[in-house]
Amino acid sequence: MWSPELGNGTVFINGTWRQADSGATFPSRNPATSDEIGAVSDAGAGETAAAIAAASAAAGGWAATTPYERAAVLLEAHRLMTERAEDLAVLMTTEQGKPLRAARNEVRYAADFLQWFGEEAKRVYGSTIPSARADQRFITMHQPVGLVAAITPWNYPISMITRKIGPALAAGCPVILKPAEQTPLCAVAVFQLLAEAGVPAGVISLLTTRDPGPVGQVLLTSDAIRKLTFTGSTEVGKTLAAQAAGTVKRVSLELGGHAPFLVFDDADPVHAAKGAALVKFLNTGQACISPNRIFVQRGIYPEFVRVLTERVGALRTGNGADAAVSIGPLIDEQAVAKMERHTQDAVTKGARLLAGGHRLAGQEFDQGTFFAPTVLSEVTPEMLIYREETFGPIAAVTPFDDEKQAIQMANDTAYGLASYVYTRDLSRAIRVCEALRFAIVGVNDINPTSAAAPFGGTKESGLGREGGREGIAEYLDTKLVGLSL
Ligand code: ADP
Repeated sequence: MWSPELGNGTVFINGTWRQADSGATFPSRNPATSDEIGAVSDAGAGETAAAIAAASAAAGGWAATTPYERAAVLLEAHRLMTERAEDLAVLMTTEQGKPLRAARNEVRYAADFLQWFGEEAKRVYGSTIPSARADQRFITMHQPVGLVAAITPWNYPISMITRKIGPALAAGCPVILKPAEQTPLCAVAVFQLLAEAGVPAGVISLLTTRDPGPVGQVLLTSDAIRKLTFTGSTEVGKTLAAQAAGTVKRVSLELGGHAPFLVFDDADPVHAAKGAALVKFLNTGQACISPNRIFVQRGIYPEFVRVLTERVGALRTGNGADAAVSIGPLIDEQAVAKMERHTQDAVTKGARLLAGGHRLAGQEFDQGTFFAPTVLSEVTPEMLIYREETFGPIAAVTPFDDEKQAIQMANDTAYGLASYVYTRDLSRAIRVCEALRFAIVGVNDINPTSAAAPFGGTKESGLGREGGREGIAEYLDTKLVGLSL
């Protein structure tokens, strides 16, 4: 397996790779085998303060570069990421577990953010605004918010980094990244290529750590840090937002989801079931846009459930490095325990278990954290799976009678990230899109994501948008200039 060079340590501050001050390290492990794949430096409060000092010193110089210079660095990073795509994908499969094909797709998606925001750097336009006073003119300009703290999750360990660092660098902001403790090597590999692409010393810092608390505390209480961008659980996001409030930082949060997947009688049940099987089991269900509740109108319910069960039964689970595998391991033991809890709770309360429902055991599975792809039907609102984000390979199906009921059930959650609608009726598609209190709707479409499109949530799924024109605005302050003639 290819791995980034770790010999000098995995903390990156002021253009230099170093060990943690304490010399402490922690292991990164392959979730399919439990093998250690690298020793990672365990940074703490001291290294965080050093990164803030380096970023503060570099901020003015980076903000003063032209957008064309920043674009050139980002486009070079895109070129390097594309050139190294296979090595990065193999590393991701080894560290995070997703099948190699999915890892390749993620690296492509990650590189897209570097390219898109390299291009967007040149399109940060201000405006002129007419005044009611004849002797007055208004101008707006957009300026970098300043130092950015970025905290990223393990489920998309490369693209979640470029989705934040791409626009921050394009806008002219230095970034300090704290990656997830489960996938630090992916972050190291990204930082190596960013440094090679010419990001100046101090402009990017990487703090690998086993314990996010102390690093987070220093970042969030520092008045030098002007922006928090976070992707992770709603629970942690709320805590971080509260900490960030003390110094009134700008905050972008991309949090949990509980996506409804609505299939109406007028849809093709086979097509819809195939779509549900694909999107539900993407990344072993460990995605914030993963459908958590699948609602199917009664007329096509039996046929939909039959096809879904058949497709799920054909999925092959195993080590993602094996080309025949389409479902990898879960990230850790806690995740397996949650799958067991959600399944048992649902079955006890009357759901029908049509596929899977258990941990996978046997030679190729025993050292990893594998759960069989699962289908539950007759799921009801009393069940945990109907309320809690599952984040794993369980498809939970519920029948409905009419459009009004479907919308009411879909919206009955504190989350508001992705949703999906299958219908061939255009009027219904528009009505339902408008009624769903989710920030993303896929209409007969299971992949409503792109570097060019605004991704994010409403309600307790988050604040702000990543990607698209909106993505760079998160790192810019608007300045109003009033001029008397
Ligand atoms: P998940 O459930 O997907 O692991 P988390 O919200 O626990 O999501 O983690 C997402 C990111 O937030 C990770 O990088 C993790 O280390 C970080 N994190 C968790 N708790 C804290 C904290 N108290 N302070 C700063 N970062 C944290």
